[in-house]
Amino acid sequence: MRINARFSHILFSQRPPLPSNCLNFCDLHCAKPLLLPRSPAICFLQSPCALLRKLGRQPIPSMFIFKKVADLRRHLNTRRRDGQTIGFVPTMGALHQGHASLIKQAAAESNATVCSIFVNPTQFNEANDLAKYPRTPEKDIQLLLECGCTVLFLPEVKEVYPDGELSTLEIDFGQLDQPMEGAHRPGHFAGVAQVVKRLLDIVQPDQLYMGQKDYQQFAIVQHMVQALQLPVKLTMCATVREADGLAMSSRNMRLSAEQRAIAPLVFKALRFAKDKVEQDGPTATVATAMQMLTVPGMEPEYFEIVDGRSLAPVASLADHERVVACTAVRLGDIRLIDNLVLK
Ligand code: AMP
Repeated sequence: MRINARFSHILFSQRPPLPSNCLNFCDLHCAKPLLLPRSPAICFLQSPCALLRKLGRQPIPSMFIFKKVADLRRHLNTRRRDGQTIGFVPTMGALHQGHASLIKQAAAESNATVCSIFVNPTQFNEANDLAKYPRTPEKDIQLLLECGCTVLFLPEVKEVYPDGELSTLEIDFGQLDQPMEGAHRPGHFAGVAQVVKRLLDIVQPDQLYMGQKDYQQFAIVQHMVQALQLPVKLTMCATVREADGLAMSSRNMRLSAEQRAIAPLVFKALRFAKDKVEQDGPTATVATAMQMLTVPGMEPEYFEIVDGRSLAPVASLADHERVVACTAVRLGDIRLIDNLVLK
């Protein structure tokens, strides 16, 4: 889908419904482009919502979509001046119910809920993974409207990195960026820290919502927020799973039927670890879990039982307040990660 560059900020109304082959989203669907965030048109569209709610009717969801940093900033500044709090959920799109849970929590706890969809090139260590990363913007917009998102930031790469993609952000993550994803995806966390910092600078939210699904990523961002004393409250949201335990992920839609059938083994191995680690100890539990994940079509990259704060492997559960099992597997060229808190 190509969004008409003329309208860098628009108010989107859910009516009329999105056609699946929509190429020029703004032309077809937006209410008139709004040039001023405080324009009468917004008041007009927002006040019936409040009225409808009072009458017990469902208001028509609406959402602003911005492509440009300057437009987004202007809009959010107005909201801030009006005393509104801002909740922020950064994503790479191809949204699913895992993302939806973050948006809903942000919407419940903030006045304005901002979601960004940006497939950040600097955090991909494999060109193929970046090229094949799923992109479903029309479906994403529909889901965001249903979840109560009020602002979508949909920038292009040059908007996020006007000075180029080379990062000047240097943060010492200690051991946090070394094991697991850090060892298997060189440069990944430098890219994650770079984009999260940049997006935080742009959005300046009060609250930042991230998923437990990416446990190590959360630890990295938490460390960065503390190290740079960023004025944002970081909240971890629980992992949302399919009925068979598979953690929801944008990459799941790339799994073949055969791969999808064996993918729940990941959660099975994590559950096994939770049930057995006390009795068998971490070393034996890890060995058995690795065996469980070694089946035709699936190859484990790692299965580690680590301290929930330092991410260092644990020798026993005693002496650790929080212990987490983290794993990554490959199914063909698709890589899935998951984790489970054991203690
Ligand atoms: P992504 O689009 O994969 O970069 O994810 C955006 C945010 O959604 C990150 O904070 C993820 O941890 C979170 N997330 C992804 N999948 C899930 C899930 N299944 N449950 C909860 N949060 C998730």
